[in-house]
Amino acid sequence: MARSLELELAATTKKYGDTIAVNAINHRFAAGSYSCLLGPSGCGKSSTLRMIAGHETVSTGDIVLGGTNITDLPPAKRGTAMMFQSYALFPHLSVVDNVAFSQKMKGVDKAIRQKKALELLELVDMSAYAARMPSQLSGGQQQRVALARALITEPSVLLLDEPLSALDPFLRIKMRLELKRLQRELGISFIHVTHSQDEALALADDIIVMNNGRIEQAGTPRDIFNAPATEFVAKFIGGHNVLGQAGKRVALRADRLLVSKAQDGGSTLLGATVRDVEYLGSTVKLALDAGTTGDLTASLSDEVFFQDPIDIGTAVFLTWKPEDAHPLAA
Ligand code: ADP
Repeated sequence: MARSLELELAATTKKYGDTIAVNAINHRFAAGSYSCLLGPSGCGKSSTLRMIAGHETVSTGDIVLGGTNITDLPPAKRGTAMMFQSYALFPHLSVVDNVAFSQKMKGVDKAIRQKKALELLELVDMSAYAARMPSQLSGGQQQRVALARALITEPSVLLLDEPLSALDPFLRIKMRLELKRLQRELGISFIHVTHSQDEALALADDIIVMNNGRIEQAGTPRDIFNAPATEFVAKFIGGHNVLGQAGKRVALRADRLLVSKAQDGGSTLLGATVRDVEYLGSTVKLALDAGTTGDLTASLSDEVFFQDPIDIGTAVFLTWKPEDAHPLAA
């Protein structure tokens, strides 16, 4: 199997004419880690991934894999492999021949490449479908074949561009677990592009939040969610309130905002009116109008909420622990 290696981006930049899609980003993807590039459409995620894969030239800067500068190497020589969003299977080749294709191009003996392809189909739980044609497979099955086909090259880094976006919500959550399991078993690095916060939080060892061609913040899911560094990250990751004056703004998780009907002692920081109440199962979400502070969101556990339910229109008092307010970079 492939070795697990660190991948480094050093001032990596992509320009399309006058558009700077990726603006001198620096990042080290730890060997054997699951990383998600997360951000809104157009922030430069795919361009970054395609440069790592060698499907897009680097305008300036470097890409270094395990100490080797791979910036100008062709895709097949870099030690990376890419799984495309569309899966891009060859329609006229059977499943096993799709998986064995790159080995055939390399001139590997038929018996050897078929054996290897079957091993990879086993890994993705698709052995029973080896003789089928891609058109006879569901979307989820096609994706497993595409994964096997990418992994047969024994990459140190597997690159995945929005791999779950074509699946229905149920299958998406199932495949999400399988991708994570596969990465753990193989021990290689996965770099996964997504615009879904939930997907990144659930999957990643490290999340790299991008905005406008730059990295806004990189860290563990818990770091990113608990202590977003900038207003952009707090708003994009969701579940936060951003409050305070310019230069002194803080992020406060919606489930850290404490709501009470009575003003208790001197600790009340804000008065607000309940505008909406949404029951979400294990939590209840309150939309709050806090006057000049703006609109805030509180997330209460169902247990806390139903001990003393709060109606729409109720005047409430809001407090929080000082350590739950995370200062944001200006
Ligand atoms: P994301 O994957 O985050 O949606 P992209 O990397 O696809 O972002 O795009 C980043 C920026 O580069 C966008 O402004 C996009 O319009 C531009 N861009 C991407 N590909 C091309 C291209 N082939 N030619 C010109 N501009 C491009």
